[in-house]
Amino acid sequence: METTSARRQIKSTLKVIKTRDAAYHELVDRFGLLFEKKEQVRTALMAANLQSPAVDADRMAAGMPVLGKENLTPWASAFRQSADSLLPVLAEVLQLERKTHRNLLAHLDNNENLLGLAQARIEGNRKHFENTSVQLGITPRTLLPYISEAVSAPVFCAIVCHLGESLSWEYGHCPVCGSFPSISQLTPKDVTDSEYLVGGGGKKYLHCSLCGHDWRYKRNACAACGNEDSESRELIYADGVKHERIEVCHKCGKYILNVDMREYASLPHLDTIQMGLIHLDVLAHERHLSPVSPTLWNTIN
Ligand SMILES: [Zn+2]
Ligand SMILES: [Zn+2]
Repeated sequence: METTSARRQIKSTLKVIKTRDAAYHELVDRFGLLFEKKEQVRTALMAANLQSPAVDADRMAAGMPVLGKENLTPWASAFRQSADSLLPVLAEVLQLERKTHRNLLAHLDNNENLLGLAQARIEGNRKHFENTSVQLGITPRTLLPYISEAVSAPVFCAIVCHLGESLSWEYGHCPVCGSFPSISQLTPKDVTDSEYLVGGGGKKYLHCSLCGHDWRYKRNACAACGNEDSESRELIYADGVKHERIEVCHKCGKYILNVDMREYASLPHLDTIQMGLIHLDVLAHERHLSPVSPTLWNTIN
């Protein structure tokens, strides 16, 4: 995606979320800066032409993502640049206690620790986050994964931005970094962007919770378990707003939020809009469903 349009989308999405109610107004005031700063870092890193990872077609055919076992050391300076830019903003928006902030900075000042968390994220190694949170005295348990994700995301985004749609993939996890999607979308109408060539829209894409890659997926299948049985799948929406809904799979008990881009006057930024859909996450939690991908917005402690 072209970066000026991403910046514009973030701003307009924040504006829309802000009008929803007082609680959302407050969230936008708190987190808005972080979304904009992350985009700035991503733009700077994209301009730096970072080395692209090698794509191994055989591995991918077996369902293994591009970055599965990749050593992240070649991108160490990009992770450092992102951490230095974003940690002060994160400390402010997350209202970190002074001691937590100090421990975090001391830990992430070491590149090995910084890359270790990014590596743990793409390997799905939750234990590493739990142990490091205990070691640094960081609570709640969702905080450190969120911080690491916020710092790593612009780097992964910049690393993978040239891989595009050429990847052949049919799974519910990201073909690039292996993470599960944070949201799904039905593509907009009449878009000339090369990512969405067909005019009618309505094709389902999953949006990676980490690297932001979007990939096509079967419209009637659960992203977590692949279930296609219509009897055990359900769409739930709130207050008659049908284009923002919860895709539920009763077979595995997971849900993912879905937005129908054909129904928006101006297209929302997919990472940002999730902060404005917390009312749907609350609804899903009331029904004892768990998110396909845990985020700061959907993890109710
Ligand atoms: Zn990804
Ligand atoms: Zn499922």
